[in-house]
Amino acid sequence: MNKKGHVINALVLSVGLAYLTHPTGDATTARAVVGFAVPVVLGALVPDVDTAFGSHRKTFHNLPTLGLFVAYPLYFDNLELVWIGVATHYVLDLLGTKRGLALLYPLDSTEFDLPVGVRVESRYATLVVLLITGVEIAVAAVLAADTPRQLLTDGLRAAGLF
Ligand SMILES: [Zn+2]
Repeated sequence: MNKKGHVINALVLSVGLAYLTHPTGDATTARAVVGFAVPVVLGALVPDVDTAFGSHRKTFHNLPTLGLFVAYPLYFDNLELVWIGVATHYVLDLLGTKRGLALLYPLDSTEFDLPVGVRVESRYATLVVLLITGVEIAVAAVLAADTPRQLLTDGLRAAGLF
């Protein structure tokens, strides 16, 4: 996906996440939108830095890069939400476009892809971005809901793991 698609995805996803975490629809929600949007958009722009430095869809389109952004806040207490942007960039590239990602790079340069998606220049690209973003928000809503969390806790407890 191109930068426009990644920014639209990150902005719409941020609004969705803000409403999921702060559903009042008032100034608190608006503040949450900004709180999500800035780091998530920044994170969504990070992987394509490899168009200038390294090999595109390899150097910064892999799980070690995502792991770095997940771990960074744990050690430096900073950039807590940027990993969401990096992750959603990967989802959009995997589901929304024809070319795959070298998720295991630098260990393996094989590009993984899913048999869906449109060409970056397709007139349906924005529609695909919005559909994928809607699915991401739905997944986030399920993950944020108490019922699945309670089922997981009950399941782990029943299995003697919690
Ligand atoms: Zn990309």
